[in-house]
Amino acid sequence: MIAAVEKGEIGRRFDTVLIANRGEIALRVQRACRELGLRTVMVCSDADRDAPYRATADAFVCIGPAAPGQSYLNQAAVLLAARSAGAGAIHPGYGFLSENAGFAEAAEAAGLVFVGPPASAIRTMGDKIAAKRAMIETGVPCVPGPDEALPDDIASITAIADGIGYPVIIKAAGGGGGRGMRVVHDASALKDAVSVTREEARRAFGTPELYMEKFLQHPRHVEIQVLCDDHGNAVWLGHRDCSMQRRHQKVVEEAPAPGIPAEIAAAVGKRCADACQQIGYRGVGTFEFLFENGEFYFIEMNTRLQVEHPVTEMTSGIDIVCEQLRVAQGLPLTLAQADVRAHGHAFECRINAEDPFTFAASPGRITAAEFPSGPGIRVDTHVTTGYKVSPHYDSLIAKLIVHAPTRDQAIRRMRLALADTRIEGISTNLALHRALFEDPAFCAGETDIHHLEKWLDERK
Ligand code: ADP
Repeated sequence: MIAAVEKGEIGRRFDTVLIANRGEIALRVQRACRELGLRTVMVCSDADRDAPYRATADAFVCIGPAAPGQSYLNQAAVLLAARSAGAGAIHPGYGFLSENAGFAEAAEAAGLVFVGPPASAIRTMGDKIAAKRAMIETGVPCVPGPDEALPDDIASITAIADGIGYPVIIKAAGGGGGRGMRVVHDASALKDAVSVTREEARRAFGTPELYMEKFLQHPRHVEIQVLCDDHGNAVWLGHRDCSMQRRHQKVVEEAPAPGIPAEIAAAVGKRCADACQQIGYRGVGTFEFLFENGEFYFIEMNTRLQVEHPVTEMTSGIDIVCEQLRVAQGLPLTLAQADVRAHGHAFECRINAEDPFTFAASPGRITAAEFPSGPGIRVDTHVTTGYKVSPHYDSLIAKLIVHAPTRDQAIRRMRLALADTRIEGISTNLALHRALFEDPAFCAGETDIHHLEKWLDERK
């Protein structure tokens, strides 16, 4: 008993979780809570009053108007809802408040368990220079370049660029969402690139701090999923390839990342798990890397559940959200590294309410929604026929996930799943996915992060 108190287990126990999110992830987290016998409190904005997951929640609290700043991002409103509904914990999902260290602290100060890592870890990883420094210290391979902010004088900046070798990329320490970055191909463009990016960073992220690293020209985006508890256990659950991106937004993800030698993956996976132990990480997290010429280069860590977590759930057989909730309760992981196995291959298609080729958002009422089913098919969605897609939020309306013994079989299964999906009344990017799963280069695997945009350009 005393040992349990010392480990913080008892203080972290809870039986009711407030889910501070909306859409498919709110439903995904709700399902995990119900499976674990936890009560759920869902919050909603005025625009989400009719959310289908309302019926299966134990409590449903409206916290404000449709604009996210006044509802899902309104910390005081979320905390008040948690207290008034008797919640013991807050699950932030992804986006919104999920990587806000101040909110994690405010929740804990209000006596609530924040289902995520300690605020200090969120803060370190939110500052890309601090994150890079932490990774270098723990032996995680990084993109070549100093783990320090750029100085002001152009002579020193030029010397750093010469040391790295062109092309280089200037990045904002506080950047996110693919913004605050600029590629520089030669010395003549350096001065302007630094001053424009610095100004952008000052305005967009509230800090003018910049850093510089080597610009890799044809990398893939490969990431490692980790899971850690409060008892010093950390495991990595395999890797995912998320190279199919448009404007740095992921469109299709797969697990495992094809063509990566097992020894190379195991070495970097172990480094990630060790780094988590060294920095006192807790919960789920993702180490994002660029992968080029057989080498991994860390770019950032996401300190939350990710949209693409289901592909790893399919290949590992591990329910990542249930494990995340158990860890938040102070319980030890139910598995050790030796228990983690990867079976077969999984893909996820993000189905967005948008034009498939112009990408213009397409909110409105869904007049018919039919999703596929059958062996190896999973659909994570909150939408049904009659659902109204709001213009206020992310356009993701469903995730179509397939799992099969091999990558080729998974591709065939995804083609059939896409053919059996019907969404009417609004535009969706289903046609893009159907075309992509016929693209010989994508189907062959190992395409780089520029492939999707090049492929789109060629179709114009
Ligand atoms: P954000 O937090 O804004 O998503 P990241 O650091 O994760 O920023 O980088 C986003 C994307 O920018 C990467 O997925 C990659 O496409 C590109 N990128 C970032 N750093 C580099 C680099 N050193 N070389 C090449 N591309 C890069």
